[in-house]
Amino acid sequence: MLERLGVRTVGDLLEHLPRRYERAGEVRPIALLASDGGDLQRVRGRVAVAGGHRPRRGLHITQVAVQDGSGTIWAVFFNQPYLAERFRPGMEVVLTGRVERRYGRLQMQNPQYELEPGGDPENDSFLPVYPATAGLSQQVLRGIMRQALALGLEAVEDPLPAALRARLGLPGRRRALHDIHNPADEQTLAAAQRRLAFEELFLLQTALTLIRRRLVDDARGIVHQPDPAALGRFYGGLPFALTRAQRRVIADVLSDMAAPRPMHRLVQGDVGSGKTVVAAAAIFNAVQSGYQAAMMAPTEILAEQHAANLDGLLGGLGVRVALLTGRLAAKPREQLLARLAAGEIDVVVGTHAVLDEQVIFRRLSLAVTDEQHRFGVRQRALLAAKGVSPDVLVMTATPIPRTLTLTLYGDLDVSVIDELPPGRRPVRTHWLRPSQRGRAYRFLAEQAAGGRQGYVVCPLVEESEDGGARAAVDLHRRLTKVMPHLRIGLLHGRMGGSEKQEVMQAFRDGEVAVLVATSVIEVGVDVPNATVMVIEDADRFGLAQLHQLRGRVGRGAAASYCLLIAEPRTAEAEERLRAMERTNDGFAIAEQDLKLRGPGEIFGTRQHGLPDLRVADPIRDLKLLEVARKEARRLVEADPGLRRPEHAALRRRLMRAYADQIRLAMTG
Ligand code: ADP
Ligand code: MG
Repeated sequence: MLERLGVRTVGDLLEHLPRRYERAGEVRPIALLASDGGDLQRVRGRVAVAGGHRPRRGLHITQVAVQDGSGTIWAVFFNQPYLAERFRPGMEVVLTGRVERRYGRLQMQNPQYELEPGGDPENDSFLPVYPATAGLSQQVLRGIMRQALALGLEAVEDPLPAALRARLGLPGRRRALHDIHNPADEQTLAAAQRRLAFEELFLLQTALTLIRRRLVDDARGIVHQPDPAALGRFYGGLPFALTRAQRRVIADVLSDMAAPRPMHRLVQGDVGSGKTVVAAAAIFNAVQSGYQAAMMAPTEILAEQHAANLDGLLGGLGVRVALLTGRLAAKPREQLLARLAAGEIDVVVGTHAVLDEQVIFRRLSLAVTDEQHRFGVRQRALLAAKGVSPDVLVMTATPIPRTLTLTLYGDLDVSVIDELPPGRRPVRTHWLRPSQRGRAYRFLAEQAAGGRQGYVVCPLVEESEDGGARAAVDLHRRLTKVMPHLRIGLLHGRMGGSEKQEVMQAFRDGEVAVLVATSVIEVGVDVPNATVMVIEDADRFGLAQLHQLRGRVGRGAAASYCLLIAEPRTAEAEERLRAMERTNDGFAIAEQDLKLRGPGEIFGTRQHGLPDLRVADPIRDLKLLEVARKEARRLVEADPGLRRPEHAALRRRLMRAYADQIRLAMTG
């Protein structure tokens, strides 16, 4: 049963932290107990009698009378015959439970009990409530936890150096673990939580600092000297004038690339803010300086779009662009790899297929990751490892508050594109009930008749083996029937690579008016003539995902619409739909998402490739996060290899928690 909770060792048990606490209330004289069976109440007294009997087969009852001078109460336990032995007359006990009057006497059924409690009899106390599983009661878990503390606490190591703890007034790890399982009062509980939250943030920040130091501060990067005349040709060839924000961010990037230290920069910008052109400028700069560049995107469709885009922007300037995805056949793949290794290809754009060890560059100097939130720290590092300390540029549309940026991307410098290209109109978003579905599709048909295009996104079919392909096929068939005059395309993950490419191309060329798709189109896809996004079963998608999907429209000057079809089953789902109606601002959406889901979900391992935060909450604990970051930098500055004896435990702990990341960082 414990294994179901992820607990295999005594150490795991100690880390199995209470979800919340029940206040047991103060110890009350028995005579003053309320006997309405309501709240938890607590008494302290001595055992007068204890005994058991078996009124019928399969039932054993233990009865213990406890007296405190003001009265008598009976503790009644079922089917735990050994208890009759444990409660010995004269022994001091504390009982906590709901009090009832039965057969004319006061009793508690299955109360929590503490034998020979010692300590201050007047103290309030907190009862931990653990994440539990079927068949394992809180009472049993608490009992196991008491044993684990007695057995295992001695062996607990403290990764925080004593000097640091003393400076910040943090309790030791043993103390903190003891107190979080058994808090004596609110202050000790708060101190224990603060200590454990700090530890999490500090470990994360130390890992990020080590990674950054290894990849940036100690590394010698490639100096890219921008050539103003060539850059002029690049800017001159763009189909639009850059926004001020784009120019500022490109300047950040080019100045990083000119410096002798490797660039390690995150570009943040809401969907549609125009991040691709920033990547294009950086890539052009790298190639112009005689090097190669790589760009990684999370989906084939997006990789293909980027490759076409870059070819359009840079092809005329002599830059040779190639596309590499898992779908590429053996023969062309072999040729591509050979040309890449020979330096006959300047830019490779691809999915994670570019991470394959057979992909070898002649001289890679720039690694770009688009939609970074879809990858982990590890993949970003693997891409960078294809060159010798190349410049690293990562892009994300997740517009998160600065504090969260620090938590997630503490090893990166950050530039923000905080402005949309001119002429954009906010996407109008409406939530429709399934009964109003007809309106949505009539509207879509009208827009198509006016020369516009639209997407219809299929319900998320969770855990379906085909990733929702069946649902998409069905919907496509139905829509083809109701809108026979329109050309309706179909796109899902199960289709072949060339099939997908053809449909996407037909949609880009305007030949296909409506594209029915699974969430494969969620990120990056850019067809400015598309003005309608219909999302079926919209309540099944997360808020960030809905915002990303909506970002597929509103990319041109025409008014755009997002129609969410849903009959939400929970208040939370309804709030997501309302948030979408309320705002187009990715920042506001992200904050709302945090409120609804909590940071735990958003900072899951998959998001950043690092262990989850369990105690700390980067929003609530912002101050602590900043202290952790400062302390981590100070410590790594003083002892970059963590070689000092007082840092041995920290080193061991980091190696355990962040083995992969640290090893990558340590070996470059
Ligand atoms: P993001 O990746 O940030 O979501 P894209 O780079 O795909 O955004 O750009 C979105 C759309 O806006 C594209 O069609 C792009 O050509 C266009 N675009 C980008 N920058 C500008 C600009 N400065 N002026 C007008 N259109 C722009
Ligand atoms: Mg993009």
